[in-house]
Amino acid sequence: MSSVKQRLDVIVIGGGHAGAEAALAAARCGSQTLLLTHSVAAIGQMSCNPAIGGIGKGHLVKEIDALGGLMACAADEAGIQFRRLNASRGAAVRATRAQSDRVLYKKSVQRQLAESANLQILQHSVEDIVIQNGRVAGVCVDGGTVFLAPTVVLTAGTFLGGVMHIGGEQTPGGRAGCPPSLPLAQKLRALNLPVGRLKTGTPPRIDGDSIDFSLLEEQPGDVPRPVFSFINTVDCHPPQRVCHMTNTTPAVHDVIRAALLQSPVFSGALDGVGPRYCPSVEDKVAKFSERESHRIFLEPEGLNTSQYYPNGISTALPAKVQEEFVALIPGLENARITQFGYAIEYDYFDPRALLPSLQTRAVEGLFFAGQINGTTGYEEAAAQGLVAGLNAARYAADLPPWIPKRQESYIGVMIDDLTARGVTEPYRMFTSRAECRLSLREDNADLRLTPLGRDLGLVDDNRWRQFCARRERLQKEEEVLQTLKINPLGGVTQTAAKWLCKPEGDYMQIGGEGRLSAATDIAEIEARFKYAGYIAHQQAQLLRADEEDAMTIPTDFDFSSIGGLSTETRELFTLHHPGNIRQARRIGGMTPAALSLLVVHLKTCEQRL
Ligand code: FAD
Repeated sequence: MSSVKQRLDVIVIGGGHAGAEAALAAARCGSQTLLLTHSVAAIGQMSCNPAIGGIGKGHLVKEIDALGGLMACAADEAGIQFRRLNASRGAAVRATRAQSDRVLYKKSVQRQLAESANLQILQHSVEDIVIQNGRVAGVCVDGGTVFLAPTVVLTAGTFLGGVMHIGGEQTPGGRAGCPPSLPLAQKLRALNLPVGRLKTGTPPRIDGDSIDFSLLEEQPGDVPRPVFSFINTVDCHPPQRVCHMTNTTPAVHDVIRAALLQSPVFSGALDGVGPRYCPSVEDKVAKFSERESHRIFLEPEGLNTSQYYPNGISTALPAKVQEEFVALIPGLENARITQFGYAIEYDYFDPRALLPSLQTRAVEGLFFAGQINGTTGYEEAAAQGLVAGLNAARYAADLPPWIPKRQESYIGVMIDDLTARGVTEPYRMFTSRAECRLSLREDNADLRLTPLGRDLGLVDDNRWRQFCARRERLQKEEEVLQTLKINPLGGVTQTAAKWLCKPEGDYMQIGGEGRLSAATDIAEIEARFKYAGYIAHQQAQLLRADEEDAMTIPTDFDFSSIGGLSTETRELFTLHHPGNIRQARRIGGMTPAALSLLVVHLKTCEQRL
């Protein structure tokens, strides 16, 4: 160690999506926080797709916003096309997505961090984590300087032991243009942490001036335009752009099929597991051989660049093959590739080695967040960053951690899934992962979480004022609708509340738009009535599940006495011997059917006693 710098409360390693939220959350809680990253200019960089949100992911962004995080504001300040996905489906699965200008996105993240009190940012590569008596004591950076702190949040993304692949070529790298993090990866491998390898990929980038848009279908943004942050309006959006759509053809598939073995994914050169829901184009051609075409969205990467992101053709095929198949895609016949697609393989840590606070079980004071926990996506990383940064600050202040619950947020669903069940492939959020998705809507994220965020010290006065005004507005409107008599479509006279519970009930038809005008307010008030019955039923089910979870299983219980269990689940029960139903539920590979057999059996035994 050549020199020791000042003492801090929290050190965050990495300036990606997890690192930015971690640093802001820790600093907001009053912790003296230091963010260390390879490149200050690259803080908030979108490594892959220039877009934020989508189904499940948009829900996470709204929850991060409700807890005072920065992602939604950055998405608003950088969004060049906004859409409300699943707009015609139920409120639980409606989600916001914004195409982003990469430069504006980074600028907004960097501005929000610069405006934060208690936060310093320095450009360094962290080479080691200093551990004393099983506890974190600080970090050691390039050049040997040591920064001391009782907590460290590691958010190194795809950089630990990163290797990039294009065809047979392999280059060490954390992402295009960035060196990998090798010394730190080696040091971490020496700790008692379960390490594995995962992979992900990105498509080639195209010069928009070489695309023939005249042949392509346009995809405009939605009107009215949605807004991400609860404290923003459309006025903070930059000018908007359209996207375009094209598709692969049988000729494109022929070229890809003939070159499959030149892709590291198929040659065996790359053995990390990739994201099933974001497959490479060579994966799609091989797995869905019956399909003649796959959709490609041509997304502009910003207002002042001609670069386009062809969403749907992520690939690690050799550069020559990429050139050949891209030229066969309608509209891209004369396309110039500005950066070739590639796959990247990197170290991740089994998240079951983490406590639900995101602190590692092996080293006290060491927290992990983001892609290194086996997730994929900016939103998943950011949500974990917020929780890890908050809990690092709470640890430094000798306060108990905040553990988000499954019933109150998608953040809680994700952290429980990761820490209790682990991952077998890069984890991304879907609404189907939540048991209570009717209650976990985008439009009520603030009502679920902002009061909690205020208590935790994450929500500033401005957000709190706006939140209280909205909560009161909605409360008043709910009361008005309970007594307001209406005669919808000339039918039976009834209260507006009763009518809104029906499938055809529509707030805009009862003349209420004068009282509520924001789309999120209208969506929330409608959902409150429409789902009230279902939510009450769901709450009753959850209560029952809670009671079942608490049922204890005797230590000498013989699982072979349960009739109807498959051999596999009987072996799992015997191997893990859970102490109660909650623990049984968390066994990897456990099925709901086996759990109900166990519950019924335990209840029968209880009655016999
Ligand atoms: P990152 O955004 O990677 O940030 C890591 C940060 O840590 C960087 O600032 C880096 O400089 C810093 N850092 C690392 N090591 C050190 C060190 N030793 N010292 C100091 N600083 C350090 N996501 C999807 O959802 N879909 C996709 O299809 C997809 N494809 C991808 C393709 C590629 C090629 C890549 C690289 C990523 C892709 N992603 C995709 C993933 C997405 O980029 C990540 O999920 C997201 O960026 C993770 O955020 P993070 O904060 O965990 O890490």
